Amino acid sequence: MSSETQLSLFDDSTFNQQELIPTDAKIPIPPGTYSSMTELAQHCNQCHRCALGDTRTHAVVGRGNLQASIMIVGEAPGQNEDETGLPFVGKSGQLLEKILASVNLSTENDVYIANINKCRPPNNRVPTTDEMVACKPYLLEQIRLVDPKIILLTGASALKGLTGEKRAITKIRGQWLEWEGRLCMPIFHPSYLLRNPSREVGAPKWLMWQDIQAVRAKFDEIQKNT
Ligand code: SF4
Repeated sequence: MSSETQLSLFDDSTFNQQELIPTDAKIPIPPGTYSSMTELAQHCNQCHRCALGDTRTHAVVGRGNLQASIMIVGEAPGQNEDETGLPFVGKSGQLLEKILASVNLSTENDVYIANINKCRPPNNRVPTTDEMVACKPYLLEQIRLVDPKIILLTGASALKGLTGEKRAITKIRGQWLEWEGRLCMPIFHPSYLLRNPSREVGAPKWLMWQDIQAVRAKFDEIQKNT
């Protein structure tokens, strides 16, 4: 067999392997699989690597600036997100935008938002470990494509799903962690803040205010050094 024929066979098998990604969580998604977020979104919208694909209306891939310095990672879509195909819409999303705006950050300019799982778990239950593992390679590709300097992990599932960190979010929020050479900070999920509206010193909303100011300061420091 000529080396050219061998090469073309290799190309075919790589192509077939890529085509199979949305069908089975056992098919790996090597770094560099997708050259754009649009390509990745096409796979997510036809994906059945886990059972969440059976009940979704839309896969929720992400929104915001594709070249953002800050990436926010949440858990999974809720009902509004499943209906619209966009992450962090509804009350949680509005609060998140307000938090960002309070330190002059926005999803148009500075932030890209994505979730660990792209499809809505029934009744908004927490995604299972298997579901998170099945979907995580898509998120890793999104992180590679956006290449953020800072990753904010909203809530325990996002923290555990991306980094494997199992400490409670109340213990670890506001601390800078290093993951795969990137700076990460666990923060409260906006829906938790909606359930805990007190602004008193030490309350979750007050703590979030401290955290987002620390993020802004780090963002400024990074901008200055690049
Ligand atoms: S949640 Fe992720 S892995 Fe599961 S079906 Fe949706 S896109 Fe695929």
